[in-house]
Amino acid sequence: MSAYQLWVDGRNTVGHGDLIPVEDPATGETCHSASASDVDDAIAVAHCAFKSGVWAKAPRETRASVLEKAAALLTQHLPTLIPLEVQQTGRAVREMNAQVPSLVRWFRYYAAVLRTEERPVLPTSGKLHNWLERVPLGVVVQITPFNHPLLIAVKKLAPALAAGNSVVLKPSELTPLTSLLLGPILKEAGVPDGVFNVLPGLGPVTGKALVSHPLVRKVDVTGGTAAGRAIGSIVGANLARYTAELGGKAPLIIFEKANLDAAVNGIAFGSFIASGQTCVAATRILVHQSVLSDLVSRLRQKCESIARRMGSPTNPDSSMGPLVSSRQLAKVEALVGETLSRPELAQLLCGGHRMSGLSPLDGTDFSKGYFYPPTAILLQQMGSRPDRPALWKEEAFGPVIVLAAFDTEEQAVQLANETDFGLGAGIWTEDLGQAFRVSEQVESGIVWVNTHHRNDPSSPWGGATSESGVGSENGIDAYHAYTTTKSIIINYASAEESLASDDWFKEGADGVRYG
Ligand code: NAD
Repeated sequence: MSAYQLWVDGRNTVGHGDLIPVEDPATGETCHSASASDVDDAIAVAHCAFKSGVWAKAPRETRASVLEKAAALLTQHLPTLIPLEVQQTGRAVREMNAQVPSLVRWFRYYAAVLRTEERPVLPTSGKLHNWLERVPLGVVVQITPFNHPLLIAVKKLAPALAAGNSVVLKPSELTPLTSLLLGPILKEAGVPDGVFNVLPGLGPVTGKALVSHPLVRKVDVTGGTAAGRAIGSIVGANLARYTAELGGKAPLIIFEKANLDAAVNGIAFGSFIASGQTCVAATRILVHQSVLSDLVSRLRQKCESIARRMGSPTNPDSSMGPLVSSRQLAKVEALVGETLSRPELAQLLCGGHRMSGLSPLDGTDFSKGYFYPPTAILLQQMGSRPDRPALWKEEAFGPVIVLAAFDTEEQAVQLANETDFGLGAGIWTEDLGQAFRVSEQVESGIVWVNTHHRNDPSSPWGGATSESGVGSENGIDAYHAYTTTKSIIINYASAEESLASDDWFKEGADGVRYG
């Protein structure tokens, strides 16, 4: 099969970087990557498209209609997009059948923003009419991770295009294929050539060249905290704008008044969807001492049920897919191994080892992929132990959770906030007062009560601390962050009135205004 190419200026284009292998246990694909000169060319094309005004100055009505058409075309292309997303990520097709069709909501939401946006008129004193316009920034670069390739690309693209920018998207080198298919879809929807470009490539090569380019006016990245920090220092030096959605180590607190079955379902979804490879994965489960043993037995059953139904990612009955890469598997194995090497602290409740042998569901040979089962580890006596295992602090990015017991609400909040990240958090309680109190005290950008992972185009998604990122996706704020304001002030006084009051340097100046 011939390699996937770059998408530049409305067509497939040969990349001059190394070919990148895109791993799939079944077939395997390769993809061109963008060299530094490809980056220069694509940014020149995107800049030229921006300056032409073909999109940047198109009526809002036109841009909104194109986004709506993109939503309709995305739906038509689901039969191609979903299998390819499964193939490159290894995620279970059941998840992608649910996730990918929902992306149309982002195109529709930002089309609606364009159609309903009002411009403020400011209370400037005097005979002045001062209103605010929002104008696009120029060429913007978007850098996305491997775990939800299409979701994260569309979350970023929809507000950026709505605002009138030209976009260069660099998908993860592990999962570039579906993002490339967005090129022809957006072209057919009516996005002019050069306005949307996709440059696959390695982070330190293609990514670095993109974010360093002086014509780039904004960078929007989702990825690990190390990448976010490295990119931010370059973007800051260029005085460009920056949004970064980075790592997490989300707490999920289960109080004594929680419905335990609902809480276990919440843990399972929050922790094991995408095989735990999500930034908001609920990885630190804090449980009131009085319900710990009951919760543990229900959780074990749930984990065993998920593991029993794991199989090929393409099997619609498969509950959970493998990890994305050998590197990701090695990271998970190292963190679990280090924790379990301390038996005085850690008790394995379920999982804990890479899967091998044949799937009872469909005979998939687990040893040929990076399959890892739902894994839960109980950490004992956390209050009296300052030497936390690395798994308590670091993102494993796998289906691995730690549990710790608490006695009081205060202890629960203190344990929840014991992290450098502050992205997502969950609370399970049927005590409404407690839900309000604790959600106020937990330091994170998103707090879910009696639910998890809710993500809507209208609802901000971003970290509360720098380790989890800067700025947020979704909602009006994300659209505003792809624009700059233009304050327009019109003096509607008559020429006579202006002559009388606005000549600061007239001789014997009396009654003239300053500024
Ligand atoms: P990663 O940091 O390895 O890579 C993310 C992207 O950044 C890739 O496209 C990569 O090529 C690029 N990149 C890496 N280094 C770069 C550099 N120096 N210059 C330019 N680009 C560079 O992350 P990943 O392994 O693909 O994804 C997992 C991480 O993403 C986790 O930490 C997870 O928490 C985070 N994430 C966050 C959110 C969120 O909304 N906050 C959502 C999903 C994933």
